[in-house]
Amino acid sequence: MIPRLRPDLGWPELLAAFALPRPDDLARFETAFAREMGQREAIAFPYGRTGLLLLLRALGLQGREIICPAYTCVVVPHAIVLSGNVPVFVDSRAGDFNMDLDLAEEAITGKTGAIIATSLFGYPVDLDRLEALRRRHPDLLIIQDCAHSFAAEWQGRPVQQGGTAAIFGLNISKLLTSVFGGMVTTDDPALAARLRELRDREVRAPGAAKSLRRLLYLLAVYPAFLPPVYGLINRLERSGWLNRFVRYYDEGKIEMPGDYLEGMTGVEARVGLAQLGKYRRLVERRQQAAAVYDRLLAKLPGLQLPPLVPGATYSHYVVVAGERSPWLAALLARGIQLGWLIEYCIPEMAAYRDCRYLSRAHLAEAWARRTINLPLWGGAALAERVAGALLAAAGREPAGQS
Ligand SMILES: *Cc1c(COP(=O)(O)O)cnc(C)c1O
Repeated sequence: MIPRLRPDLGWPELLAAFALPRPDDLARFETAFAREMGQREAIAFPYGRTGLLLLLRALGLQGREIICPAYTCVVVPHAIVLSGNVPVFVDSRAGDFNMDLDLAEEAITGKTGAIIATSLFGYPVDLDRLEALRRRHPDLLIIQDCAHSFAAEWQGRPVQQGGTAAIFGLNISKLLTSVFGGMVTTDDPALAARLRELRDREVRAPGAAKSLRRLLYLLAVYPAFLPPVYGLINRLERSGWLNRFVRYYDEGKIEMPGDYLEGMTGVEARVGLAQLGKYRRLVERRQQAAAVYDRLLAKLPGLQLPPLVPGATYSHYVVVAGERSPWLAALLARGIQLGWLIEYCIPEMAAYRDCRYLSRAHLAEAWARRTINLPLWGGAALAERVAGALLAAAGREPAGQS
């Protein structure tokens, strides 16, 4: 079974996890992360959502409207609500999957405090439009959600530098992982100091039990992605049994994990540090895989391909199908698991149904049902194999074999 995702974990991460703890593990990860992202400050959190929640508070936002995509990870509006603010949802634009910034501008009212500009799936958000929008609304704060786009570039400019601050998610499914964890970066030293102070007050030091849990989780990840084990996991997942353990949201609830205010562990910081060194190489491999899909699948009927964008980091390569399930089934029969990543449109969820939502074409609703993501972790070679299977499933011979 070829899994839809696979974290790039090897010996360096394992050795780092078991290395002798140092009191400055967290600080070293923060410093290295800030340097890699070209930002003055990085502040580590147990989750990306914890970082966002405390960032909104450090920015002094209370009872304000925060504009965010309708098509993004649901933990984003959760953090907005739990910070004492109100999310306002904006639909995506056609083309890449990012929020429509013209609609976002229409969503601005006297109560708007910030806009969460998200480079979804690694497609860089349009920094020029964002800059123009900020010139027209000078009080508007811009938060870059870089959970999918560490160091993605809009025409040569890194997106994380295009706002007041940027948030990152570091769980096992992200481009770069510290097991769990999140990071906030900023070039504003005063904001960084406020956020650090808030973190040190609100987030307690991780206990030994949490460090052990994280270590065990990491150890479980290594064999989990080996073929026979992963096949079993996939069967459990499809049977619905695994959902009890891995489901990260509940339609009707706005909640955080139990340990969201227990700090990032040293284990996680050391693993993250080990990952940082290979980040650029990981992204290059994904870009090569995306280019292969773009070339080989161009003539495949029934699947709409995403654009090939320079500067995108391709956290996911997402195609849009008329109907998703026949493709998933056909590829599964060929031993390949495809993913469906964001299978909801947030304003359709029970917890957010009453929120303001600006949309013209209702793309988020369509994508929630019709997007499929293809594996990227294995670079060009794996992409060729997956593309071959898709072509075969559609009754087309892969190029070069006919
Ligand atoms: C993963 C993710 C986050 C942060 O997630 P955490 O699980 O809280 O670390 C934020 N935004 C997007 C778009 C994400 O995919």
